[in-house]
Parts: sequence; structure tokens; C-alpha cells
Amino acid sequence: EEGVRLQKVLAGAGVGSRRACEVLIAAGRVEVDGQIVRTMGLRVDPTTAVIKVDGMRVTTAEAGLVHLALNKPRGVVSTMSDPEGRPSLQDYVHGRKERLFHVGRLDADTEGLILLTNDGELAHRLAHPSYEILKTYVAEVPGPVAPGVGKQLREGITLDDGPVQVTSFRVVDRVGTRVMVEVALHEGRKHVVRRMLKAAGHPVQRLVRTHVGPVALSDLRPGNTRALTREEVANLY
Ligand code: URA
Repeated sequence: EEGVRLQKVLAGAGVGSRRACEVLIAAGRVEVDGQIVRTMGLRVDPTTAVIKVDGMRVTTAEAGLVHLALNKPRGVVSTMSDPEGRPSLQDYVHGRKERLFHVGRLDADTEGLILLTNDGELAHRLAHPSYEILKTYVAEVPGPVAPGVGKQLREGITLDDGPVQVTSFRVVDRVGTRVMVEVALHEGRKHVVRRMLKAAGHPVQRLVRTHVGPVALSDLRPGNTRALTREEVANLY
């Protein structure tokens, strides 16, 4: 379906929790493109819709909320500052005044997408195990990858700290004896992708996170950040 549900867009603009936004909609206090909307679940295009609460326009920028994607380079620790002085996430957002929180972590050796926001509540919620946001990784492993490996990982394998299951697994490329595999999973346990692929006989040589929920790394270069689009932000809430 096209668009993003209105209560999500409002929550993404910092109006309140999704539930609080539903209450505002039911009370007739929300207007989309000049019309009061009282029905729940209306889908809007957050990039073009003119949305007002009590007659006042809402946008993510007005709410003072910042949501960024960073392509974390290898060797950078996933904290805002490091007592040992190693490169940290702060080094990539030093021009910004807001206090930013990172959504979850990547190993220092892992590259790729990490989200940063000054909405501490959102950062906390998205990183919480019960939220189970889907994350996608591309791993470089020694090949060949036997045809049964995908099935095995989708059905689940047991690690030291319990079972793990992937939502999808596919071989995306082969370069000589190395194979690039893409895995998607809802898990966030420490080193889980490396541990899982090693247990399946394919120790990871390089690991890149390419997606976090609705946000894709796409062509963002290592060390660069970009602001999330309004649609991406709305879909995170
Ligand atoms: N799984 C890993 O093994 N490492 C990461 O950085 C993220 C997920």
C-alpha cells in the first residue's frame, strides 16, 4: 500500500506517541491537506502532505528532531565517545549541536548502516530486543556455500546463548573462492551474524549492514551521513 499511516507520520514529527496521535485524530484535531481527518489508518505521503494539528503545521524539522543514517567505517566503535580514544560515532557528526543517540550497535569490525537520532526514546525502542526490527547484512565468506545452508539458517541453528533464525538468506555474488551472502534477521545479539555463519561453516571475513527496517544504506559512502527522508522517519515510528 502507498503512503504511511497518519498516526506514524505524526509520531515521527514529534507530536507524541503513536497512541497519543490516534487520540488527537479521533478528537478531530488533525487536518491533512485542508481536511479534518477522524478516521484511523489514513495513509498519506509524508513528503507532500500538509499536516496540521490544532491548525499548526507539523514537520520533523520543526519538532527539532534529527534522524541520520551513517555508513560506519570499519574500525570505528559504536559509542558516541570512547574513553580509550578510539574513533567513535561522534567523529562523524562533530558539527551537530544535538545530543545524538545511536540505534543499536555494530562491531568495530563491521561496516555499514547505523542510525543516529536525538529522539532518545525512539533509539531505545528500536534497539530493544522485543521490537525486533529487521536488519540486513552482506557477509563475505569462503565458498562454496552448500545449497543446504540457507535452509539450515532459515530453520534455525543453536548458538551458545540460544537459537537463532534468519528471515532470508541468499548468495548475492561470487568472486573467486569468496562468496557474498545476504542475510536478514530480527536479532540483535552481540556478534550474532558472525557466530551464526561460523557455526554454519562460513567464518565471516567482512560484514556490512545494508538495511535497518525501512532504511537502506544504498550508495552512502563510508564515513558519510545523510538525513533520513520524511517517509523513512515516519516508517520508523
Ligand atoms: N552481527 C554481528 O556479528 N556483528 C555486527 O556488528 C552485527 C550483527
